[in-house]
Amino acid sequence: MIIIDGSQGEGEGQILRTSLALSLWTQQPVRIEHIRAKRAKPGLLRQHLTAVQAAVAISKGQAKGAELGSRALTFSPGKVQGGDFRFAIGTAGSCTLVLQTILFPLLLAERASTVTITGGTHNPSAPPVDFLQRAFLPLLARMGAPVEVTLKKHGFFPGGGGEIVTRIQPCPILQGLELCERGERRRSFAEAYIASLPVHIAERELKTVGELMNWRKEQLFVRGLSGHNGIGNALGIILEHEHVTEVFTGFGERGVSAETVAKTACDEALDYIASNAAVGPHLADQLLLPLALAGSGRFTMSAPTQHFTTNAAVIERFLPIRIGVEKKDLTRYDTLIVL
Ligand code: AMP
Repeated sequence: MIIIDGSQGEGEGQILRTSLALSLWTQQPVRIEHIRAKRAKPGLLRQHLTAVQAAVAISKGQAKGAELGSRALTFSPGKVQGGDFRFAIGTAGSCTLVLQTILFPLLLAERASTVTITGGTHNPSAPPVDFLQRAFLPLLARMGAPVEVTLKKHGFFPGGGGEIVTRIQPCPILQGLELCERGERRRSFAEAYIASLPVHIAERELKTVGELMNWRKEQLFVRGLSGHNGIGNALGIILEHEHVTEVFTGFGERGVSAETVAKTACDEALDYIASNAAVGPHLADQLLLPLALAGSGRFTMSAPTQHFTTNAAVIERFLPIRIGVEKKDLTRYDTLIVL
């Protein structure tokens, strides 16, 4: 049994999700201790518990300690079975993070899967659905795995209530990926989603983006959503390049001005542009798992984050690979994944 310390590094939910995914992939039992020990509310929250339940459901596995607030979990995976699954988080906890727990294991199944998840689709500290659709999944498709995520309904923090449906075709062998240059910029634009809130919030966000990014109004889009999408706002900045698309997101929040939401997203996008790296910090930590499963890969990123180094350490506990990081030039690091 592999024992993982959930308090290492960033000490957040990613340690749990990566451990469950790799336990399913390698069919090795795992025990995770001190789960989310560094957070104000440690232990399993609804989103993490749903991820554990999903890991159990797709493999008929067994979990001890799968309760709200639990700080230790023992998981014994069964064989991964494809099929139709439905998971309800019950809060605005992130649908995409639950999906990332079972997405790779379901590639091993003998038949296709359809996974419906309800909860948050655009909430802080998690990849919004647009990020998966535009940035992450196209890279996975290049690795041989066609995965399709459809956003049925937006779910913003704190209300939740969103829904995504994911179709996963079996793909037990992933091809490695080289992503050292982003290539020419093809298109850049911003989208401000607004649901049941005054439209001036979206307009002010886009005005700020126009000023900070020096973009024309043809690059700025208000996306008004109908009432059944709950209440909320998110701003996406999309940079499409020849080899990779990046998405930087600002999340509307009560008490935070539209201008500040926009500035946060623009700052991330401008840092990425200045780094000249192929992938930004979020894509970097999320690409590690598929590249490690493929057994080879390489990409350039700006400086490694704590999420990145923690995820790399957890992955190296399960798989016979080495994840090396070297400074490439003034603004970029080279990440190399080898067997
Ligand atoms: P954790 O904090 O351990 O639960 O992990 C959060 C995950 O969400 C990490 O993989 C982050 O890179 C990812 N993430 C957080 N914010 C964003 C964002 N704005 N866009 C894309 N991914 C994000």
